[in-house]
Amino acid sequence: MALHIDVLTLFPRMLEGFLSESIVGKAVERGLFTVKVHDLRQWATDRHRTADDRPFGGGAGMVLKPEPVFAAFEQVQRPESKRIYLTPDGVPLSPGLAESLSHEQHLVLLSGHYEGIDQRIRDRLIDQEISIGDYVLTNGTLPAAVVIDALSRFIPGVLGEEKSLTHESFTNKLLDFPQYTRPAEFRGMSVPEVLLSGNHAEIEKWRRARQEEKTRQVRPDLLSLTKGQP
Ligand code: SAM
Repeated sequence: MALHIDVLTLFPRMLEGFLSESIVGKAVERGLFTVKVHDLRQWATDRHRTADDRPFGGGAGMVLKPEPVFAAFEQVQRPESKRIYLTPDGVPLSPGLAESLSHEQHLVLLSGHYEGIDQRIRDRLIDQEISIGDYVLTNGTLPAAVVIDALSRFIPGVLGEEKSLTHESFTNKLLDFPQYTRPAEFRGMSVPEVLLSGNHAEIEKWRRARQEEKTRQVRPDLLSLTKGQP
């Protein structure tokens, strides 16, 4: 059975282009995984479809109310569901986490808005909280898209060449090497000779050296993680 993902958001249209374009769009079209985007307001019962309210205890902003979110989960969740809330105070998304999510049967991704969501939703409904990085966005819809994109790459058939997964940034805790394509000479800039040599051992060596150089410059923290590892 292909992975199914339900996304709960106040801004369903934000995902329209994302789910119909590029590699994710093709994968969805081919049924390699399926996604249904739900507007949380359809579970708001009052006349104005209110989904938020002021925080108890005071403070700025509004908080997503529990009623529509509980009603939404009660409709979409299944016994096998993994229920995820996208939030800056969650565990950071990593390739390992993305891969483990790709093996699930059913994901429910909840996007927050305003100041966040009522804590009782997190306490009662959520299995895992995920952050896409140490910055704060206005709502969790793009983070949900980021999670879907990241996990989709681990679903067999989504990427043309399975090999492309093994040569990416963060594999072996190193950033990626520079890529070049035709023409070999462009506006006075030439492709490094070694890449035109056909010598695969030398190409591998050159690429590895560029990966280490780039990682040392940009993400030295990753290099310290590789110490002592084969
Ligand atoms: N008050 C919250 C805090 O300080 O942790 C921030 C709320 S944020 C303005 C509104 C919503 O955007 C959150 O409920 C969450 O769903 C989403 N969001 C914002 N930044 C995010 C991030 N880095 N990762 C995942 N979700 C994020």
